[in-house]
Amino acid sequence: MQWLPVSKARIADSVGRLVEIRGWVRTRRDSKGGFSFLEINDGSCLGNLQVIVPSSLPNYNSDVLKLNVGASVTVRGELKASPGKGQATELAAADLVVLGLADPGGYPLQKKGASLEFLRSIAHLRPRTNTFGAVSRVRNQVCSSIHSFFQERGFLYVNTPIITASDCEGAGQMFRVTTLDAQNPPRNPDGSVDHDKDFFGKPTHLTVSGQLEGEALACALGRIYTFGPTFRAENSNTTRHLSEFWMVEPEVAFFQLEDNMDLAEAFLRRIASDALNHCAEDIQFFAERIDPNIRSTLLSLAEEPFERLSYTEAVARLANSGEVFEHPVKWGMDLQSEHERWITEKLFRRPAIVHDYPREIKAFYMRLSDDGKTVRAMDVLAPRVGEIIGGSQREERLEILESRMRECGLDPDAYSWYLDLRRFGTVPHAGFGLGLERAVQMITGMTNIRDVIPFPRAPRLADF
Ligand code: ATP
Ligand code: MN
Repeated sequence: MQWLPVSKARIADSVGRLVEIRGWVRTRRDSKGGFSFLEINDGSCLGNLQVIVPSSLPNYNSDVLKLNVGASVTVRGELKASPGKGQATELAAADLVVLGLADPGGYPLQKKGASLEFLRSIAHLRPRTNTFGAVSRVRNQVCSSIHSFFQERGFLYVNTPIITASDCEGAGQMFRVTTLDAQNPPRNPDGSVDHDKDFFGKPTHLTVSGQLEGEALACALGRIYTFGPTFRAENSNTTRHLSEFWMVEPEVAFFQLEDNMDLAEAFLRRIASDALNHCAEDIQFFAERIDPNIRSTLLSLAEEPFERLSYTEAVARLANSGEVFEHPVKWGMDLQSEHERWITEKLFRRPAIVHDYPREIKAFYMRLSDDGKTVRAMDVLAPRVGEIIGGSQREERLEILESRMRECGLDPDAYSWYLDLRRFGTVPHAGFGLGLERAVQMITGMTNIRDVIPFPRAPRLADF
């Protein structure tokens, strides 16, 4: 007999057909009338498939009655429109094969309602829970939207190196990449480590951003985006920082800051509307279990324009807010998370783009404005999540860039390839970075970033 393999997500078209489904048992209930009811989840969507197993199956006593939460099965039978409430279809089992039992004594997901903290300690099994299934599907949708959005607009997907010798921000906090013996590295006469003997003949690190290389590609190809793993060795044990995360970085030749802000806004809007349209069942789950306002947040994200205000205006608004902040607000300071939250959660109640920051608190590559005091930087802030995108128009003028490097304590000679982009056919250009996990937090309402990446890497996290 021909059995059609189906996934739960696409099962509706197969009513009346002989199908095969494979998945994991969520519950088993035995009825007196000679049937058992199984709820099977195959990961393709949140909902389970109800399977009705008659006690007349030859392996009913030997197999079916041993099934517990977590066991894996293949079931074949006719798919029927369900008379019961709560599901549209059910499978009348004609054949059931147990692939693997799950000992109820040892299986950690035996009971419902395990805490997110506990689930973090079993990252290999938490994908089997409703929450992490939903997070994984939304994360997949966000990745798909990212590629669609840029591909539809003619951006080339490019890959930038993970091992790098340049530090994008000019600040430390990078993971070192080396093959030198940690116990006994070769040393120079003055006692310092001799990096000539290291694998690449110089100190190298894991990338904190693909931006500088992205600029080289944009200054030839026009519009590019990178999307890859990014590493930061900051010891920030927050709900918004990971040591290893995924960053999307578009870079566009001939763009100014205003174009960059328009792009960032259209981009986030698309991510939100795709999630609403393609992940409705999962979003409904987040609304019920995680954040009751998530749908309205996403609708407003998808439909209402973001607020835009300069850093100088933001500081004035904060100073006149009457609010008592832990860090008092003063022009020239970096905005703290309490300030960002006040702007998005109290002042506007939606995302905001703050632009034109003081030069002292931003990176060397951001374009200096005519006022001499600010650079053409922008941060997109989202309620609850805080900064979700950071970007800028880049400094395309050679002399100014060199002097900004010196001002930031960097040696222009070390960035000679980057300066070549300004020496030969320089153009205005701009770009930004979106942290994928912060975007997934925004879409799902999950409060801890460690719960939106399958296997989180964070300081002192010992569970891997
Ligand atoms: P923050 O001030 O929140 O630490 P940042 O200003 O250092 O962030 P950028 O260098 O501007 O971050 O990076 C661009 C984007 O990458 C951020 O807007 C954020 O979405 C994401 N991001 C940065 N650092 C992290 C991290 N440690 N974990 C997860 N995402 C991050
Ligand atoms: Mn930033």
